[in-house]
Amino acid sequence: TTETFATFIANYARRLADLQETLNTLDNNIGDGDHGTNMARGFKAAAEQLAAKPATDVGGACNTVGMALLGSVGGASGPLYATVFMRFATAWKGMTSVDATNFAAGIAAALEGLQTRGKADVGDKTMIDVWHPVNQTLQNVRETTTLQAIVETADTAALATKQRIAKKGRAAYLGERSAGHCDPGSISSAVLFEELVDATIG
Ligand code: ADP
Ligand code: MG
Ligand code: MG
Repeated sequence: TTETFATFIANYARRLADLQETLNTLDNNIGDGDHGTNMARGFKAAAEQLAAKPATDVGGACNTVGMALLGSVGGASGPLYATVFMRFATAWKGMTSVDATNFAAGIAAALEGLQTRGKADVGDKTMIDVWHPVNQTLQNVRETTTLQAIVETADTAALATKQRIAKKGRAAYLGERSAGHCDPGSISSAVLFEELVDATIG
């Protein structure tokens, strides 16, 4: 519901504030060390704007979040996560609650948006490595997918980026030296799914 979504954003913002240093350290290994700062700043703005102007439908809330991210995050992750929420906004426009079928359609649309914008393939050691298997899980076994399966898929996929060699984003400059470190955007995406599922279970 719209309320569940607002809870998810508030909780995710809080979680990112707690994880800020951890995500910065991960990004420091293979990038420029700002992923935690970018995410904490962006979702703090998103949570504040959503609280200041509560949306009347889930799509409207997603639009507010997307716009807040665009306005507050300069790094690669800002426009990418903004794309996710703008795609959700279109998929869930006018809905005061999102059922399993609509939820799966929203995730598929978000993945498509990420790939259109970022041009990364699966295995390139980006957040696509998490969004793609989560989408697969939802499309393959939609009827029986438990929300917990989404979390397990996302967490496993994020940790599996560790052995990959980066092909997109700043980490790609390191080539083979990017192996041995998890992709920070994949970790923040896995945490997003944890909080989304937690808020949905209630
Ligand atoms: P920046 O790299 O500009 O400093 P961040 O550190 O906030 O931005 O975000 C880095 C994350 O963005 C990476 O860990 C990766 O998951 C994601 N990313 C970077 N480039 C792409 C891309 N082309 N497609 C998908 N995700 C990407
Ligand atoms: Mg960075
Ligand atoms: Mg940066």
